[in-house]
Amino acid sequence: MSRLVILSNRVADLRKTSQSGGLAVGLADALRQRGGVWFGWDGETLRTQPREATVEQIGNVRMISAAMTVEDYMDYYVGYANSVLWPLFHYRLDLVDFKASYFDAYQRVNAHFAGLVAPYLEEKDLIWVHDYHFIPMANALRRLGSRQRMGFFLHIPFPPPDLLAASPNHRFLVECLLDYDVLGFQTTTDTINFRHYLEEWGIGEVVDDRTIRFNGRTITLDRYPIGIDVDAFSQMASEVPEDVRIDASRRAQLGRRQIIGVDRLDYSKGLPDRFQAFGRLLAQHPELEKQVTFLQIAPPTREDVNAYGDIRAELEGLTGSINGRFSDFNWTPLRYIHRPVPRETLAALFRVSHVGLVTPLRDGMNLVAKEFIAAQDEEDPGVLVLSQFAGAAEDLEEALIVNPYDTDTMAEAIHRALTMPLTERLARHGALLARIAQQDTHAWLAAFLADLEVEGAGAGPRRPQ
Ligand code: ADP
Repeated sequence: MSRLVILSNRVADLRKTSQSGGLAVGLADALRQRGGVWFGWDGETLRTQPREATVEQIGNVRMISAAMTVEDYMDYYVGYANSVLWPLFHYRLDLVDFKASYFDAYQRVNAHFAGLVAPYLEEKDLIWVHDYHFIPMANALRRLGSRQRMGFFLHIPFPPPDLLAASPNHRFLVECLLDYDVLGFQTTTDTINFRHYLEEWGIGEVVDDRTIRFNGRTITLDRYPIGIDVDAFSQMASEVPEDVRIDASRRAQLGRRQIIGVDRLDYSKGLPDRFQAFGRLLAQHPELEKQVTFLQIAPPTREDVNAYGDIRAELEGLTGSINGRFSDFNWTPLRYIHRPVPRETLAALFRVSHVGLVTPLRDGMNLVAKEFIAAQDEEDPGVLVLSQFAGAAEDLEEALIVNPYDTDTMAEAIHRALTMPLTERLARHGALLARIAQQDTHAWLAAFLADLEVEGAGAGPRRPQ
């Protein structure tokens, strides 16, 4: 089995992965099994460019991390990654803030990081690059002479050709993606968007749904829907901490049901639309007065990007107006928590909730949807209300699928979820649980690595750079 080299924006702490999400655990397991390297940004910014990375050997895995300059942080991370690629790939052209200096920094940082990791690569390694921060990484490594097989997995959506073409660098981005040997997306829609782009712009040759020829090379393209470790999450959810249990039993005494939403505070998550739908539900169903509460947990994220300040202000305004209109001295319909919550608490809160709202305007996969399903009590499960624009909706068809732009219908779907009979809840939950168990973290890792690791992996013919 070849060694594995993972490059991702951040590296997880290998000694503490049980506290991280399933993805970090899964990747850490794969690394421990094969041995190898995990490289990423250490989260630090410095005044001057560090020449070397920090290297730490943990068992058979070498963890390598590096800082970046304040300028690179602003132009590459805040700039190109999170003010250009993130909104562009989430279909939000209105929020794209393109600057040539951002694009320069994107190439510069990828080239610099490639230079830092290159000395640690071995000829037979499999290199797996993650996400939009590092699209040009294969190109940068190939320029340094790397001939290993390289795979790329995009955790976020891939936009339709016309949207992508609004970026001045669209051709560069796509050609960089074609520098990999295996290209992984979350959904069928993403793979179709990518193939359509190639056809519309006459780049390479689409041989079949999984195969592209480009400059004499063959590239495998597929969807590899990411999942969670279902058993681990379910186990965590069943250990309900005392404060959560007390809160839930108080609500039960009052006959009050809980709706829950858990998201980073990101404009892609459709939070204002969700809040409005909850307000509409209360307005249209006065019988729900004091019968239901909506708990939204949305910790801050990327606060250096302007658009995130705007969404925060919008949500605070909506929270105030909904509670101002409907609250009573003994009922606060909407509780909004703007800080991170430990995973164990989140899992337990999912379990004691009756409805989970996962209603992004666009999302690569959305693991929260899968976590909500895994956390439920199998004998009395809650109902998932899921946006048609979450990657997860491609498979989780037994959820109540909604259009997040359609406030009235979303309000009705929440009402339906709140009043769904047990038999229907059991049938839907059973089917959803089977789906997330089939497409869990292990299946995702195995499928991607199987395509990356083919006979004779290692040096193959490369186009001259
Ligand atoms: P994204 O990657 O865009 O944030 P996902 O739904 O795919 O969206 O993954 C989010 C992950 O972050 C999930 O594992 C979820 O449990 C975790 N998470 C979300 N909100 C919080 C929070 N308030 N506190 C702690 N973890 C959170």
